[in-house]
Amino acid sequence: QPPVIMVVGMAGSGKTTFMQRLNAHLHQKKDPPYIVNLDPAVKNVPFDRHIDIRDSVNYKEVMKQYNLGPNGGIMTCLNLFATKIDQVIGILEKRAPTLSRILVDTPGQIECFVWSASGAIVTDALASSLPTVLAYVIDTPRTTSTSTFMSNMLYACSILYKTKLPMIIVFNKTDAQDAAFAKEWMTDFEAFQAALRQEEEKGEGVNSGYMGSLMNSMSLMLDEFYNHLDVVSVSSMTGAGIDDFFKAVDSKVEEYKRDYLPELEKAR
Ligand code: GDP
Ligand code: MG
Repeated sequence: QPPVIMVVGMAGSGKTTFMQRLNAHLHQKKDPPYIVNLDPAVKNVPFDRHIDIRDSVNYKEVMKQYNLGPNGGIMTCLNLFATKIDQVIGILEKRAPTLSRILVDTPGQIECFVWSASGAIVTDALASSLPTVLAYVIDTPRTTSTSTFMSNMLYACSILYKTKLPMIIVFNKTDAQDAAFAKEWMTDFEAFQAALRQEEEKGEGVNSGYMGSLMNSMSLMLDEFYNHLDVVSVSSMTGAGIDDFFKAVDSKVEEYKRDYLPELEKAR
C-alpha cells in the first residue's frame, strides 16, 4: 500500500514549493508520485496533479454564488469536495497497487483544513484507507525567536492530538536559515531555557513575569510532544534534505502500522 503524505503548515511556510520539490525529486528517481491538490484557492499548481479539488469546485464561483470571503470560499469548496470523498478513495484504492506514494497539498489557510468538519472527513477517510503521515512544514527563518517557535510547536502539537496521525516536522527554507538552533531547542531543554533568558536580557522577548513561567511550563509539556516526532531540515528551493525526509516517511509508516492501525481496527 502506498503511503499518503499530507503536507500541512501555516500559509507561506512553503507547502506548495515543498510539494513541487518532492515531485521533482521523485520524477528524477523515475518513481513519480500520485498527486492530490486540496487547495481550491491556488492559482497555478506548479506540478501536474491527478486529483484536483479545482476540477470539481470553482472557488471564484462559489465565493460569488454564496457571497463569501476567501476563507468561507475555501470552507465551502472543502465541504462540497468532502461529499465526494468516497469516489476519491475509490480511485485511490483502485490505483494503489501501481503507486508508490501519494502526495496531498492542503489549503494555504491551515485552520480552514485542520479545524473544519470537512477537513477532518477528508483526513479520516484517507487515513482509514491508506497509511497516512503528516508533514508539518515550518518557515524556519520566521521561527527564530522563542515565542514564534513555541507558537508553531503548539500548533503542530494540537494537530497531532486532533488527528493522532504520525507527524514529521519539516524545517523548510534552510537555505535562508539553518535549523540547527531549532533542533537543539527540541532536544536540549537547557538550550531552550538559555535562549529564553538571553532574549529577556536583550529586552527582546516578553519572557518575564507570567509569560516567563508560562513559556517555562509549556516547554516542559512540549518536551514530551517532541518525543513523538521526527524532525528534518530541508530547503525546498535547493533540494537539500529531501532524502532525509523520505527516510522519515518510511519510519512514520511503520509507526502508523504499529500505533494508528490497531486503534482504527478497535474502533470499527
Ligand atoms: P504555501 O502557502 O505554504 O503553499 O507556501 P508557498 O510554497 O507558496 O511558498 C511561500 C513563499 O516561500 C514563496 O515565495 C516561496 O518561494 C518561498 N519558499 C518556499 N520554500 C522555500 C525555501 O526552501 N527557501 C526559500 N528561500 N524560500 C522558499
Ligand atoms: Mg500553497
